[in-house]
Amino acid sequence: MSTQVAVAAAVAGIGAYAFYLRNSQVDTTKPTFGKFGFHSLRLESSELINHNTKKLRFELPNKELPAGLKLSSALLTLSFPNGEWRPCIRPYTPTNSLDEPGYIELMVKKYPGGRQSTHLHNLKPGDLMTFAGPIPEPVWTPNKHPHVALIAGGAGISPMYQLVRGILTNPQDQTRVTLVWGVNTDEDIFLGKEFGDLEKKYPGRFKAVYVVATPDAGSPHQKGFVTKQILEGLGLSATKEKNKGTKVMICGPPPMEKALKGSKGFGPFGSAKGGVLAELGYTPDQIHSF
Ligand SMILES: Cc1cc2nc3c(=O)[nH]c(=O)nc-3n(C[C@H](O)[C@H](O)[C@H](O)COP(=O)(O)OP(=O)(O)OC[C@H]3O[C@@H](n4cnc5c(N)ncnc54)[C@H](O)[C@@H]3O)c2cc1C
Repeated sequence: MSTQVAVAAAVAGIGAYAFYLRNSQVDTTKPTFGKFGFHSLRLESSELINHNTKKLRFELPNKELPAGLKLSSALLTLSFPNGEWRPCIRPYTPTNSLDEPGYIELMVKKYPGGRQSTHLHNLKPGDLMTFAGPIPEPVWTPNKHPHVALIAGGAGISPMYQLVRGILTNPQDQTRVTLVWGVNTDEDIFLGKEFGDLEKKYPGRFKAVYVVATPDAGSPHQKGFVTKQILEGLGLSATKEKNKGTKVMICGPPPMEKALKGSKGFGPFGSAKGGVLAELGYTPDQIHSF
């Protein structure tokens, strides 16, 4: 199920159910998100990590157990910003280790006028936030693909960070990983140190490339957007022998996803037409977007 479908399905009746659950008992003997459910979690801390992104840590009901999320499931957040009657439901992928007990951590980029990102940025320690999930994204299967190319735009980096770390730190998984992250400015690369450490630790298996729309003077990164030329230059053509069986995963703003996957045909069952990835030789079954 795509994230959009999951969001649409969740809208129906979600408000009433969430408020019912706020007042009901929680089973703290099992991982909170081991199976689908609604949970109201308390914000423990909120920290600004760059000019527009905050790291938010929420307490799980049981401090001894991890959340129970799989690689790389997301959660839906539900709020009524500024007391509006219209619920706001958006997916976020927790970025802390799946094994960490007691917490989930979100990295949230604030968009100008963004309903949920502004609401999350305004939360204070002690405030409650309603979560639903996990969203049933396809669960990652180690070694199913020899290579995975992860293409992220802006805040779409969160599911990619989960995947990169989850794949590389699993000793049973030998998948090679290439990450291409399109951002507006150098300052937007808030996980640069974490990715740099992983590149050093897993040479030959992991490479991270940043494509910056408006780079600083002297920036070491590629300038521009994630185009066919950039992906070709990075050796990501499907026709290359080393890319045989490559899976491509995308998470970014709608214009970026459209440019990569092409525009959808007419109606809900219309298949995608054109797009950079098709031009590079990828077939629809090789592409997943969050
Ligand atoms: C699987 C998945 C996981 C995600 N995980 C995270 C995460 O961990 N951290 C995070 O910050 N975000 C994440 N997102 C994006 C998040 O769900 C919201 O779309 C985002 O926070 C904006 O919501 P909003 O209500 O603040 O903005 P809205 O009120 O929906 O939109 C306000 C303005 O922002 C623009 N906008 C909205 N979304 C984007 C976007 N993605 N890129 C560029 N412009 C946009 C809109 O065009 C509009 O102009 C994820 C998305 C998906 C699909």
